[in-house]
Amino acid sequence: MPAEDTRTTPSDRISTVRGDISADALGMTLTHEHLFVWNPEFHRNFPALWDSAAGVERAARQLDDAYELGIRTIVDLTVLGQGRDPQLIAQVAEKTRVNIVLATGIYALDGLPQIVRYRGPGEILDMPDPLVDLLESDIRDGVAGTAAKASLVKFACEDQEAGPTLRRVAAAVAEVHRRTGVPVVVHTDPDLPNALLALDLLGKHGVDPGDVVLAHAGDIADTGYLREVADSGAYIGCDRFGMVMVPEEQRVSNVLDLVARGHLRQLLLSHDCASFIDHFPEEVRQSMMPDWSYDHLPLRVIPALRRAGLADGDLTTLFEDNPRRLLTGRAAANRETRHAP
Ligand SMILES: [Zn+2]
Repeated sequence: MPAEDTRTTPSDRISTVRGDISADALGMTLTHEHLFVWNPEFHRNFPALWDSAAGVERAARQLDDAYELGIRTIVDLTVLGQGRDPQLIAQVAEKTRVNIVLATGIYALDGLPQIVRYRGPGEILDMPDPLVDLLESDIRDGVAGTAAKASLVKFACEDQEAGPTLRRVAAAVAEVHRRTGVPVVVHTDPDLPNALLALDLLGKHGVDPGDVVLAHAGDIADTGYLREVADSGAYIGCDRFGMVMVPEEQRVSNVLDLVARGHLRQLLLSHDCASFIDHFPEEVRQSMMPDWSYDHLPLRVIPALRRAGLADGDLTTLFEDNPRRLLTGRAAANRETRHAP
């Protein structure tokens, strides 16, 4: 295994919900998870729908179970539009040993919320996009008046062609990235697929693929497309382990194929798991996706990767070095290995 060049310096501090930590303390990190994905307005008005106090206890317990298996940090990629709730997240952080890193961004598959829809470039109130300052403040000042700063900026892309909302959101996120240097995460749709569209949109605003995570891009049966995406130098999210949709063997074989082609340093393995998600009833989730939990990778996938020949050093690269390089803003280091054999 080639020597990893992500040695950190004392100045490499990572903001977590409990406070700043040294980048070296990140340890084994899951870079695409969620705590609570929900509609806070519905739940505030119909409190019987979910017991949030019990939900906090449960999330902390699940994270501690993952801690016992080596997980030290998760990135909660729940952003505006998915129900990000800084207070609930802080309650979980107080009860678990796992570090929680936050993201900012906007998840607007059904159009932008009205609070920003009419204000922005080319809108009724034609003005600079107010989203940019809002998202930037999460990164510079902290989330919702707390000391926890967002470390990544995310948007969602489920389109085959770029419409006005997607173009606006990509431009805003690219501007936030330009101002702050934090990496961009794009929720892509591997069924279309559209990872290259997302890269192209960001590229128009000068974002280097090495600074981009193409979330969910690894969830695909089209190996040719996946190889093309990986050749861009972007991070590839192999980040839905445990979910239905794609057979697990496909996910494992995609990881092995990309590693064999020299893309080890671009891969980010995770579950995209939420402790609570209000999109479907808990019983349905349990019966459909019994393995969808924060401990599925260490329990079942890592042993499978080992059996397939990945060495300890490869696993360290996947679960420690790659996340640390991503979160310390050295994503561009990927550029060196873009066209590896
Ligand atoms: Zn996600």
